[in-house]
Amino acid sequence: PRYLGLDVRWLVETWARRTPDRPFLTWAPFDGEARTWTRRQFAHDVDRVAGALAAAGLRPGGRLAIVLPNSPAFLITWCAVTSLGAVAVCLNPKSSRDELAYALGHSRSTFALTTADRAGNVAAAGPRVIVDGDPGPDGFAALLAAGLAAPAVRTDWSDPASVQYTSGTTARPKGVIWSQGNCLWSGQTGTAHQRLSPGDVNLVHLPLFHTNALSYSFLSSLWSGGSVVLQPRFSASRFWPAAVEHGATWTSVVSFCLRALRAHEVPERHRFRGWASSSVVDPGPATGGVPVMGWFGMTETVSHPVVSDPHHPVAAGSMGRVAPEYDVAVLAEDGAQVPAGTAATGELLVRGVPGVSLFAGYLDAPELTAAAFDADGWFHTGDRVRVAEDGGVWFLERDSDVLKVGGENIGAPEVERVLLGVPGVSEAAVVSRPDPMLGEVPVAFVTARPGEEVSVAAAAHRCEELLTPYKRPREIRVVAELPRSTLDKVAKATLRRQLLAEAGTDE
Ligand code: ATP
Ligand code: MG
Repeated sequence: PRYLGLDVRWLVETWARRTPDRPFLTWAPFDGEARTWTRRQFAHDVDRVAGALAAAGLRPGGRLAIVLPNSPAFLITWCAVTSLGAVAVCLNPKSSRDELAYALGHSRSTFALTTADRAGNVAAAGPRVIVDGDPGPDGFAALLAAGLAAPAVRTDWSDPASVQYTSGTTARPKGVIWSQGNCLWSGQTGTAHQRLSPGDVNLVHLPLFHTNALSYSFLSSLWSGGSVVLQPRFSASRFWPAAVEHGATWTSVVSFCLRALRAHEVPERHRFRGWASSSVVDPGPATGGVPVMGWFGMTETVSHPVVSDPHHPVAAGSMGRVAPEYDVAVLAEDGAQVPAGTAATGELLVRGVPGVSLFAGYLDAPELTAAAFDADGWFHTGDRVRVAEDGGVWFLERDSDVLKVGGENIGAPEVERVLLGVPGVSEAAVVSRPDPMLGEVPVAFVTARPGEEVSVAAAAHRCEELLTPYKRPREIRVVAELPRSTLDKVAKATLRRQLLAEAGTDE
């Protein structure tokens, strides 16, 4: 028998022994039959896929890119790769050919697993392509058919297990390495923060290649002995029907989901008891009065350094309180470091154990990893927050959202809030444009609500009324839509690049 490390494989196998016949994964496609794997069936498929991948040449430390949409095959492959002590590189299956080439090259993935329709784009970048995993009913057959059992491997908690890319909100997405220990930590703290138990059923619809769905949702369910209902993607009209049919008790959402769900009635009978969301938007009636567990987290912090507890509420609008598992401090404007528990405003700093409670490093970018930590081991989040006396933590803005205009600082969200009050405005994004005199000046991009128009003059007028002159956008542009990074965030880096390109300057 193989050595049992505290790793993902142990987690899969230990639950398969404890409660073999409990349902673990239910695939809920939009058309066609649902299919359920028990804990034992899931562990069996993971073992067989690991066996086939090992026979194909995947070794401990080797990298396999998973380029799959949400599907049982994604989760089985991810567990199989990590079970072999190899590294699962999770890539966006909607990436263009160029983006895939960059990510596959950057991650030095020697293997890739993808569906037939994507194989051409993936192969162009050079890895050995294994075609399997169509989300259809017989989709994940080729690897299972080989019938090989996984070889014994000895892993260590600090071995790299998975790479997830950041959302790419501020710059090109960064590959964040998670160790085996990070994966277990994520499952364990997610379970504790959300108070999960084996009876919990998690409706997963966010993309699995991102940390949100993979860790906060999947790994927490794996750790807690609960189960997962997996949908191909988020669909507001199919959310409640699936939740009711499969008895879901909780889900993790981003602001877009809550906005979209407002148009759908909450069914009378449902088992929901919790929502997890990093969004600060008011959910309105969308959640049916079920509490929303707020949190602050980054791919780099593995789990949630700040979390809200519905049983111990903090003031409205805050993300929650500092979680007991992390050291948290604030780097105030004057350079003083203020420990959590004292009221302060500044950059959020987080300390933990790299490879356990903090990420194990940026992929193939040791200089970037080193730059993210200071000499005392604090990870600099790049996010500005306000901490109140009672421990409540408010999100203010990203550091990159602070514009420096002729010696004055402007937080982009302050200007955006003013623009959101202009009739017809749906969304607003304020970014800096280089300026020879002032260093930077604000430029605003706004979108109109469907069927409505936005008057640039009215917007400028409102800014004149409500903002001191240096904060007023020098230009207001009405655009059809704002560029988005994955998970629905406005990709301000793209807007900044656009302004730089227009000015004829490179980054
Ligand atoms: P990139 O690092 O590539 O620019 P990203 O930081 O958006 O992308 P993620 O790791 O997915 O990538 O997201 C983490 C960020 O999300 C945090 O740094 C913070 O800016 C934002 N965030 C997380 N939780 C909250 C929250 N509760 N409220 C507001 N913003 C949040
Ligand atoms: Mg980030």
